Amino acid sequence: MSDMFCYQCSQTARGTGCTVKGVCGKDALVARLQDNLIYAMKGISAYNYNANVLGEKDDEVNEFLTTGLYTTLTNVNFDAEDLIDLGLKAGEVNIKVMKLLKEAHIKNYGEPVPAEVQVGAEEGPAIIVTGHDIKALAELLKQTEGKGIKVYTHSEMLPAHGYPELNKYDHLVGHLGKAWFDQKEIFSKYNAAILATSNCVLLPKDDYADRIFTMDVAKLPGVPKIENYDFTPVIEKALELGGLEAEEKEVITTGFGLSTILSLADKIKELVEAGKIRRFFVVGGCDSPNPKLNYYREFVENLPEDTIVLTLACGKFRFNDLDLGDIEGVPRLIDLGQCNDTIVAIDLAVALCDLFECELNDLPLTIVLSWMEQKAVAILWSLLYLGKTDMYIGPVLPAWANDDIINFLVENYNLTPIGEPLEDIKKIMGE
Ligand code: SF4
Ligand code: SF4
Repeated sequence: MSDMFCYQCSQTARGTGCTVKGVCGKDALVARLQDNLIYAMKGISAYNYNANVLGEKDDEVNEFLTTGLYTTLTNVNFDAEDLIDLGLKAGEVNIKVMKLLKEAHIKNYGEPVPAEVQVGAEEGPAIIVTGHDIKALAELLKQTEGKGIKVYTHSEMLPAHGYPELNKYDHLVGHLGKAWFDQKEIFSKYNAAILATSNCVLLPKDDYADRIFTMDVAKLPGVPKIENYDFTPVIEKALELGGLEAEEKEVITTGFGLSTILSLADKIKELVEAGKIRRFFVVGGCDSPNPKLNYYREFVENLPEDTIVLTLACGKFRFNDLDLGDIEGVPRLIDLGQCNDTIVAIDLAVALCDLFECELNDLPLTIVLSWMEQKAVAILWSLLYLGKTDMYIGPVLPAWANDDIINFLVENYNLTPIGEPLEDIKKIMGE
């Protein structure tokens, strides 16, 4: 891995890139920390955008994004320590923006409650909604009511089924596929109109390029874009296509809101004190086609039966078909929602600290993250900002983080790359 790389200004070496040391004097560590800050801010921007769409704005978030970006301009900030502080500040701001978005979702669509979701097609005209935008799905459900169209979620839209104001529609019938990267296969397979609402959309295959639509920031060349939440073209396309054939279905559960889990607080306390729950795990984050992601399924499958797994984001599709049962009524596999619902995991951890009168790192709680893109970077810095130590991360270490940054995270936070699932479990459980 080349340690140093920057080509952002005209002084760049040989007109192609500073790869040893910046002509301006910037060293590799500063260059990498600037990249890190930019990636974290990209993640914050995604959540901020979704909150803004729901009418929620926060001056501190916007000011941070402006200041943070300005800080990465040429010849502004050569101070590595300050850039680490800005990374931690990005984590703090990301918590704020995730909270803003969660509150906006709850205000508009109710707090999620557990929902059993059918995975598989029913007969009839269909629209598949992918991405992350809950408002887009809510507006689409309104406009498709009574039209004989069945609406399905894909990938990170699964948790939408937990929101009462969305779940109330009978024509929100189920879910198709798993994480984002199966979309070419899934969208080819099902003869439905497709709506891509955010990031994690792929360039379409020819066989469905004429029945996919984008909106908001998502854009694909030659693909029509929905404006002002007017889904008429998607609806017309779904009706024109004729529809899907019914198939066998599986059932998965999603939609655990904070209130649902906290309603079990007394029982959880009793079970922990009786040694019947030994540890909580948050296993989640992004999924990607990397075969190393099989780790997360093997990890969850092999956890001792006296452990609880909280999950979120599309990494859950590696194992959310598993039946882990329950511990005296407390489910062992709890799907908290989308990646931005990390705020629910954080609020829950804070509530558990109160319940057990301890600090965050004294809780029997291990975080095992998978990362793919820049929202996960923002979330990682949020957890570092909270001082969470002993986290596991995979499937690979971030390529923009050089050895100095990785060593810093290992020394200060004991951040550990994932290894072998069984060995990691033994180490974490102290066996
Ligand atoms: S900002 Fe510095 S390191 Fe980056 S291209 Fe310009 S001279 Fe090179
Ligand atoms: S969790 Fe990450 S990888 Fe998965 S759909 Fe969301 S942004 Fe994309």
